[in-house]
Amino acid sequence: MKKKLGFVITVLTLALAGFAAGQTAPAKGLKVFISVDMEGVSGVIHWDDVSVGGADYGLFRRLMTEETNAAVQGALDAGASEILVRDAHDTARNILPDLLDPAARLLRDWTYGPLSMMEGIDRTFDAVIFIGYHARASTPNAVLKHTMTTRLLDVIINGKKLPEAGINALMAGDFGVPVVFLSGDKAICDQARELFGDIETVVVKEGIGTAELGIHPKTAQKMTREKTAAALRRIKSFKPFKLNPPYTLEVSYADEAGAQKASWIPGAVRKDEHTVSFTAGTVMDLMKLFRLSKM
Ligand SMILES: [Zn+2]
Repeated sequence: MKKKLGFVITVLTLALAGFAAGQTAPAKGLKVFISVDMEGVSGVIHWDDVSVGGADYGLFRRLMTEETNAAVQGALDAGASEILVRDAHDTARNILPDLLDPAARLLRDWTYGPLSMMEGIDRTFDAVIFIGYHARASTPNAVLKHTMTTRLLDVIINGKKLPEAGINALMAGDFGVPVVFLSGDKAICDQARELFGDIETVVVKEGIGTAELGIHPKTAQKMTREKTAAALRRIKSFKPFKLNPPYTLEVSYADEAGAQKASWIPGAVRKDEHTVSFTAGTVMDLMKLFRLSKM
């Protein structure tokens, strides 16, 4: 017993000496949140490409996973020590878990909570990255454009027409976390820069009507790795995306029945044939109403 105590004291003394010399507890690296959609992945052009059962769905699942890996590797290059990947498309079960870089943890399927494509985000993260994103509904020359569902014509918060990236950035901003990088088609990269300022982007394709002109997936992956690292190396130059409370949300439905249904939600105001508006004091209350409005 005595002998053991002596050993413990020796170990403690050595540990304290090491701590004093600054040799223990390496500095914590960046904690990075990556939300991955599929419509904006390199090469994707048709709904069949991103739907279970589509002839090329398997190919594009792999490319989605490889583009995500490029962002994971870029984050590691810039010194990230913790990476959470949120699969955020359709079933939320698209990324191939065995092909995903083992440095990342993977959040799959839906919780049906208001965080949705941002499930897993909290105040402990340093940066948000969007991979495979697409433009908001009603955007011309944009690949598979929509906002959350193809049933909506527009989602407007505090007067701003927002793509999914904007809605998701607002939630991240509520936790004090900035968006630093986005990849997708040219239209969403333009919309992201308009909303978030000078973030890093990779344009993997450009919509030409309902066609696209794209770069090679390997090129998209190389650029994603480089620009993710570049963004994280200047992390201090980004600010969380915020709008001022109280928040107003206008949801415009392609089908009038959508507006009729949403108008029964307590507090909803019917604006016109297609549009219903809501107000909320906090971002998360707004997101709860948004979730209800899409049911
Ligand atoms: Zn999607």
